[in-house]
Amino acid sequence: MNLSQLAKSISESPTLKLNETAAQLRDKGEPVIHLGGGEPKSKAPIEAVVNCAALLHTGDVKYTPADGIPSLKKAIIRYTEEHYNRQVSPANVIASSGAKQALMVFLHAILDPKDEVIFPVPYWVSYPEMVKLAGGVPVPVAAEDGGFEPTLAEMELAIGPYTKAVILNSPNNPSGAVYSDAFVAGMVELCEKRGLFLAMDDTYNRLIFDGRSPSNCYEYAQEPSLDNSKLVVINCVSKMYAMTGFRIGWAVGAKDLIHAMTNIQSQETSGPAAPSQWAAVGALNGVQSSIESLRLTLENNRNVMMGRLHAFPGVKAVKPGGTFYTFPDFSAYQKDSQKLSRYLLEKVRVVTIPGREFGMEGHLRMSYCGTVKEITEGITRIQWALDPDAPNEIYIGGHKLVRDWQ
Ligand code: PMP
Repeated sequence: MNLSQLAKSISESPTLKLNETAAQLRDKGEPVIHLGGGEPKSKAPIEAVVNCAALLHTGDVKYTPADGIPSLKKAIIRYTEEHYNRQVSPANVIASSGAKQALMVFLHAILDPKDEVIFPVPYWVSYPEMVKLAGGVPVPVAAEDGGFEPTLAEMELAIGPYTKAVILNSPNNPSGAVYSDAFVAGMVELCEKRGLFLAMDDTYNRLIFDGRSPSNCYEYAQEPSLDNSKLVVINCVSKMYAMTGFRIGWAVGAKDLIHAMTNIQSQETSGPAAPSQWAAVGALNGVQSSIESLRLTLENNRNVMMGRLHAFPGVKAVKPGGTFYTFPDFSAYQKDSQKLSRYLLEKVRVVTIPGREFGMEGHLRMSYCGTVKEITEGITRIQWALDPDAPNEIYIGGHKLVRDWQ
C-alpha cells in the first residue's frame, strides 16, 4: 500500500502489542502471568466515577474548550500549587487526552524538521516514535557506566546545533530509577543556559518509595517568570489514580507555548472527552487516600520482587525508587532481550518487555503492579526456565512441566 514515509518509519507500541498477545493467550485458557503491565490494578477513586456518571446522567455531553474545562484547569492549578509550590494561571495549563497527547502536542509545537530531542537511556518506548512523528530526531543518551542515570557531562555532550529539547522522566519507566536532585537541578540549569525546552514527564512522581519525595524542577529554575521559561511539566491521572482508561493528562508551561499546543490540539482532536475531564476533576479534588494506598501496595510489591530477584543467581537488579517497574539485567542468561522475552512467554507463559524497546539490551522490564502471588509465581517460573540449578519440574496452571532443555 502507498503509505507515507512517516507511517513506515513508526513502529507499533511493543507494550500494547504484548498486552494483546497476553489477552489472546488468556482467552484461550493459557495460565499467563503478566509481568509486562503498565497500569495499577486498583479502581478509580469514587469521586471520579461519581463525577463522570453525573455528567453522563444529564445526557448533555458536548464539546469542551480545546484546552480543557475550566473546572479541570482549576483543579490542575491547585495541584500544581500543592505539589510544586508554584502559582500558575489558566493560560499556563492545557488538559489533553493523556500525558501521551500532552507530550505529543508539546513536540508538535516546538519541533522543526531535523530538530533533536535528547533523553536518557533507558527511556519510555514512545519517546523516540513520538519525536519522529513530530518530525524531529530522537537522541537517546546512555550512561557510560551502564547505569540508569547518565552524568550531566554525558547529557551536555549530546547537545548540538539542532537540539531543541530534553525530556526527563523520573521516576523512570522502565528502570524505576528516581533521578538524583543534583541531576535534575543540573539539567534545569543546563537547559536554561542553552535555551532548550525541558519537559519533565512526572507521570509517576507520586509513586515513589523509601520516604523520598519527588524533585521539584521549579525549585532549580533561575527564570522567575513561567511565561519566559522553557520548562514544561507533564502529568496525568493515569497512574497515580489508576485511571489509565480515562485518558486525561496535562501540561503546565509558558503561556505562548500552551497557546500553540492548544491550537494544535484543537485541530487534531479538540478537547479531551468531557466525561473523562469531569472524572479527573473528581479525582484531583476528592479524598487523596487512594494514592497513598496504591503507593504502599506498590512499595510492598517492589520489596517482594526485589527479594526474589536478588535470590536469582546471575540476575543483576537495581532497586527501583518508584513506579511499578524494575529493569533487571538478564544478560548472564541471554543477551538478546527480545529472544529472552519470547522464550519466557513460550516456555512458561510469563509476559515481560524486552529491554531493547527501552534502549538497553540484555534487560527485561518487569512490572510489580499485579498481585504478590503473580510476582512470586512469575519469578519462580522464570527461574525455572533459566536457572539450570532450579528443580527439574514445575506445575503451571495445574500441568506438570518437565524441563527438556538446558
Ligand atoms: N509517560 C510515561 C513515562 C509513561 O509511562 C506513560 C504511560 N505508560 C505516559 C507518559 C502516558 O500516560 P497516559 O496514559 O496518561 O497517556
